[in-house]
This record gives sequence, structure tokens and C-alpha cells, in this order.
Amino acid sequence: MADRVRVRFAPSPTGEPHIGNIRSAIFDWLFARHNGGDFIIRVEDTDQARIVEGSVEMMLDSLRWLGVDWDEGPDIGGDYGPYYQSERLAHYREATETLLSNGNAYRCFCSSERLAALRKQQQEDEAEVTGYDGLCRTLSNSEVQDRLNSGETTVVRFRMPDDGVTEGLDAIHGSVQFENRLSDDFVIIKSDGFPTYHLASVVDDHLMEISHVTRAIEWLSSLPRHLQLYKALNWEPPEFAHLPLVLATDRTKLSKRHGATSVLEFREMGMLPSAMMNYL
Ligand code: GLU
Repeated sequence: MADRVRVRFAPSPTGEPHIGNIRSAIFDWLFARHNGGDFIIRVEDTDQARIVEGSVEMMLDSLRWLGVDWDEGPDIGGDYGPYYQSERLAHYREATETLLSNGNAYRCFCSSERLAALRKQQQEDEAEVTGYDGLCRTLSNSEVQDRLNSGETTVVRFRMPDDGVTEGLDAIHGSVQFENRLSDDFVIIKSDGFPTYHLASVVDDHLMEISHVTRAIEWLSSLPRHLQLYKALNWEPPEFAHLPLVLATDRTKLSKRHGATSVLEFREMGMLPSAMMNYL
């Protein structure tokens, strides 16, 4: 285990916080407090189109209501700031430069039309391996430079290994294995210059010295991408724990069609914070 327990809750500010997210935060907080470590809040606001005004306040408000406190975060700062990803672009740029120069990433100029046609073709073929086909992998440096100079739209993709297995250890699921040939070369820097979740979360978890990443099970499928990023950047990955979802009575993920999903809605309904905390 790392020298010091440092865990983070990394919400995306896309609306009222789902109780599933808050439940992950409670696990982080309990784990930090139990181990005398740090609990950090980091706002993952790199998807500019999905930002909903007031989300961060609602998130913090929900946690405060439940009696959860934090040691570093967007409102109080800390030694590892800034705690908004949109203010950390220089870090992502630096990591991207490293990946481009060590051959683990490349610029891609494929148009959205080409990608849509590719997707359609893969669906029609019922292809086992879907996603990007690696067309821009082999562009020469001079061609890349010419296309950049002519102002073409570009993204940066991470080069996943073509074969082999990425193996990880999850604190809940144990040893997990992913076949590399099933993962495509995913985007790490979008055409607007912002990083994707994958790159930003790996860079920040490293720079913020996060020891344990605790998050919902739906992120387990991202683990091979993250582990390959750690490897390519020559960084030690943290420990991972992927938590089960909060389900409704029909055993599907609790959603709006079941009724209230946010802590604040339950507060308005008169639920006591201690009852909510106990349930979560
Ligand atoms: N921003 C992601 C979310 O809101 C965080 C996932 C993670 O904890 O890595 O679910």
C-alpha cells in the first residue's frame, strides 16, 4: 500500500448528484478517515458541452448534509490544486507530449463522417472488434506536420497494444483480464484541445498522489485503458476498487423512472440525513 492513503471523489458537474455517486464518495471518505488519510474532491469538467450550472454546489451541499467533510477540494483548495480539471490543461498537454514523443500516442485526422461510416460498417458486419481502425497510426511526421499547418482538425489517440492481455487487480473483483485486441486506439485529446476522461483522470490521480481509486462498476471496462496509460507514462498505478451500483426494486440501476435519484430530492422529501447515510 502507498505511504499515505489519499482518495478522491471525482464528480462530473452534469446535474444533480445521483445517490450512486454519493455512495462512492462515502466509501472514499470512510476509507480515508479510517486510515488517517486524505479525502479529496476533484471536479471533472472537461466535457464542456455537458456542464450544468450549479452542479458543484449541489454536490458539495449533498455531502455536507450527510456530514461528510473533505481535506482538499474546489472550495477550499489544497496543495495538489487546482481541483477543477478545466484549470489543469497544462498537465494534460505535458503528458500528451510525452506520449506523442515516446510513440504511445499519435495524431488522428479522421473526419466524423469517416468514423460514422466505419461504425456503420462494423455494425453491419457484426464485427467482434469495433471502434477506431488505426488508419492514422502510420502517418509520417512530415505528413502530420503538413496537415497541422494547414489547420486540419485533429485529435490525439492512445495506441493500445494489438495483442496480449492487460491484467489488473481490483480490491473487490480480484484479478481481472482484458484482451488488448478488443480495445481500440481511444482519444486522449479531443479536437477542442480538452482531454478525455481517461487521460485526465490518470494524469490527475498520479499528480495528486491518489493511492486508491474507488468508483462505480461501470468504470471497470476503462481499467485496461488506464493501466496502459500508466505503463506508457512510466507511472505506478494506484489500487482500484469498483463498487456495485445502487439498484431499484426491479434490480436495474436506480434512475429517474423509478423516482428520486438525488440526495437533495430525498432531503426535500423529509428524509433524515442519518437515515440516508445509513442506507447508503
Ligand atoms: N467523472 C467520473 C464520474 O463522474 C469519475 C469516474 C472516476 O471516479 O474515475 O463518474
